[in-house]
Amino acid sequence: MKDTEKLEKIVSLAKRRGFIFPGSEIYGGLSGIYDYGPMGVELRHNIKQYFWDKFIAEREDVYGMSAAILMPARVWEASGHTELFTDPLVECKICHERARADQPEAIAEHENTHKKEKEKMGWSLPSVFNLLVETKLGASEATASQVYLRGEITQGVHVNFKNVLDSMHPKLPFGIGQIGKAFRNEITPRDFLFRQREFEQMELQYYIKPDEKTGTETFEYWKNFAFNWYLGLGFKKESLRLRQHAPDERAHYAKDAWDIEYNTPFGGWLEAWGIHHRGDWDLKRHSEYSKEDLSYFDEETKERYIPWDIECSGGVDRAVLFVLLEAYSEDELGGESRIFLKLNPKIAPIKVAVFPLLKNKPDLVAKAKEIYTTLKKKIPQMMFDDNGNIGKRYRRQDEIGTPWCVTIDFDTLGEKPELKDTVTVRDRDTGKQERKNISELSEYFKAML
Ligand code: ATP
Repeated sequence: MKDTEKLEKIVSLAKRRGFIFPGSEIYGGLSGIYDYGPMGVELRHNIKQYFWDKFIAEREDVYGMSAAILMPARVWEASGHTELFTDPLVECKICHERARADQPEAIAEHENTHKKEKEKMGWSLPSVFNLLVETKLGASEATASQVYLRGEITQGVHVNFKNVLDSMHPKLPFGIGQIGKAFRNEITPRDFLFRQREFEQMELQYYIKPDEKTGTETFEYWKNFAFNWYLGLGFKKESLRLRQHAPDERAHYAKDAWDIEYNTPFGGWLEAWGIHHRGDWDLKRHSEYSKEDLSYFDEETKERYIPWDIECSGGVDRAVLFVLLEAYSEDELGGESRIFLKLNPKIAPIKVAVFPLLKNKPDLVAKAKEIYTTLKKKIPQMMFDDNGNIGKRYRRQDEIGTPWCVTIDFDTLGEKPELKDTVTVRDRDTGKQERKNISELSEYFKAML
């Protein structure tokens, strides 16, 4: 049976501590839609920044871009999504709720809700359900054109392949990466951020010369690169694995496909990230449908060809969810039980929190503010907190995963002369405190980050 206890704890912490809220909650919410709060948006930003740095900014062979969410229907006909981006849908004969026929767990879970009417339980024959989210653009009904909210961010890159070639003149192999929202009318959004209807993706399309050996080597390279990148978010090696898709599991465009999977407590090994060998599928189809020539001229060999594409495609929100699942910890500290997020400091929403020991001592507050303001210039993700007693403040920071808390006390002000201008630095994971000079704080935290 599915162990959802940890997931429920995370949903509750995410709301309590300002990470993630149900979308439009005061109006009753919207299934499969979530809003990010002040802490969640920083965590998500850090994950995206880490992607941008490693896959794009630090490389000389990859360009970044940002394509629009709305795209004409023709794009999705070319990419095969209008025809093939479907899930098998079945409807419960008792309550007409819909489910995906290929998700035995969802089917069993639903049948369980009708235990008392077992003999009536049954499903309709599966029908094909397209996941693209459709809308209309244009001022009048008559002239409005049908457009889609992109079902994957991939196509925005392929349709700009020629623009990037003509403006940047790159030589193969080269990549184009982007981060952005995608929309899917999932039949059964579930498991918090795992299956949403609006979510964000981070992707790289890496174009290569069409050649089996180059294809295999490049695929291997990006498969390992993506896996190591994912580990770098702070996962234990045993929490992640690489799994090859069986031929009947692959998307319509894929020559080969592997997933990075995370071992979730609620559903076992689930997809975090996909590495796909898309061959020339996308560029060829867009050449055909748009009538634009999307081939590449190889100056060296004087050949003209349609490049192949090796894709790395990851969900931002799934990374947020898996990072939270991995980091969630409970232990005992000073005889009290506590919850803390053992986040990698690199992606923690707040790196350092600064507290005056007491709120009603102006000298302490002024010194704490001064330290906070100076440090914040070097480390922007900081928090000042003088709310409630110090123990409560530590607990609050533990729950949002802040790696270090700095406390300004009477010794900082010189009550014990030998400790003047020192503060305590508390470590999130051990709860241990160390005294440090104010002057060394900035270097110390920067070195740890
Ligand atoms: P699944 O099999 O779980 O539906 P998929 O194979 O359709 O996923 P891709 O099309 O390869 O997924 O999308 C790339 C990535 O986007 C996935 O690895 C996942 O992290 C993310 N993703 C896909 N669908 C969703 C969703 N409904 N909610 C959140 N993230 C998603």
